[in-house]
Amino acid sequence: MAGPKLQAPKGTFDVLPPEGERRRALARACEEIFAAYGYAYAETPVFEDTEVFARGVGESTDIVQKEMFTFEDKAGRSLTLRPEGTAGICRSYVENGMHKLPQPVKLWYWGPFFRHETPQAGRYRQFNQVGIEALGSDDPSLDAEVILILAELLERAGAQGIRLRLASLGSIDTRRAYLDELRDFLRGREAELSEEVRGRLDTNPLRAFDADHEGTRVVVADAPKLMESLSDEDAEHFEHVRRMLDAAGIAYEIDPSLVRGLDYYTRTVFEFTSDALGAQSGVGGGGRYDGLVEELGGPATPGVGWAAGIERILLAAGEAGEGQSPPQVYVTPGGFALARELRSRGIRVELEQAGRSRKGQLKHADRLGVGWVVLVEEDGLQLKEMANGEQRAVADADEIERALR
Ligand code: ATP
Ligand code: MG
Repeated sequence: MAGPKLQAPKGTFDVLPPEGERRRALARACEEIFAAYGYAYAETPVFEDTEVFARGVGESTDIVQKEMFTFEDKAGRSLTLRPEGTAGICRSYVENGMHKLPQPVKLWYWGPFFRHETPQAGRYRQFNQVGIEALGSDDPSLDAEVILILAELLERAGAQGIRLRLASLGSIDTRRAYLDELRDFLRGREAELSEEVRGRLDTNPLRAFDADHEGTRVVVADAPKLMESLSDEDAEHFEHVRRMLDAAGIAYEIDPSLVRGLDYYTRTVFEFTSDALGAQSGVGGGGRYDGLVEELGGPATPGVGWAAGIERILLAAGEAGEGQSPPQVYVTPGGFALARELRSRGIRVELEQAGRSRKGQLKHADRLGVGWVVLVEEDGLQLKEMANGEQRAVADADEIERALR
């Protein structure tokens, strides 16, 4: 019985060819780059106890307050579709006792994430992120390393108009002292602030830096900057990171107002944007989160990492980036076993499987862009070279393979 047409939910999308192949190519690039730096692949569940994000990402963040898909299971437990990857990885680090492994533990992930946002170009409710985390060391070379890796990945993906902004938020103590100072300053000019920023003065005064509200921006321009209150240790850590990036020839801009939308960051934070994207210019970002593992019930453990949006990387790459390799050989009906034999030798083979006439077969082979057609005739195999139309009898897969070389 025919029913009404169904649609994918708002803010979701299907990945179809050739887009699917561009994604797989990007995934292969990720695997190669991460392996070279010693990051190993990990997966965590797509949903977690809501607590993981409430505590991990921070109660006062937009993500937790507005963007999570939260539901109850049949036993009344509150679960949430993961809005980001780091909290889950840290939950897993604690639960699996990874602090007993040699440190740092270096992991990467790739998969779907969920945020209840207004859908628009480059902003979806189900999207995909790739990310890396290095846990268990606060060595500044790790901060520089993760930044280098993302820069390398974006270059390899062909992302256009990439810029990097960088800042340091200081250690947890510095940050806490600064937040008090900032809060006092903002209270002094409370009347000029937006309602939203006023509402969050207690929980998250840093959000003032993110505001679009004109009055708030005027106030914020005069506000004390966190970068100016860094302790000597934090300043030195940041200096190390910068020196390594300079030595690697990575261009960046120091942006003291860079506030990431997650509460867990300490010390280095960074964001890569692309001028090729419209309003949704963020391609990927991250930073150091030295308090997060402890916040989630584990031993005090430093960590640093980033997440990048797959869809935004591909958008920023435009048509650049590799797609699927076309088939090399097209085999006419009757060649099922031969096709299998050729494929086992690593040759990409397309078999005629749609009942076309001989004329239709050759037209299709041409459209596919294959170099060679194997015509399976009653008296044997004919190999046709598409470039010049030449055709000759061949005995078997060996001979075809030789012709292709
Ligand atoms: P934005 O400022 O665009 O909302 P964000 O700061 O919330 O981004 P992060 O939490 O840092 O983003 O996530 C890392 C990356 O994931 C972003 O740089 C972006 O590429 C991608 N991303 C985040 N939210 C979405 C979304 N709703 N749809 C598609 N990609 C997203
Ligand atoms: Mg966001």
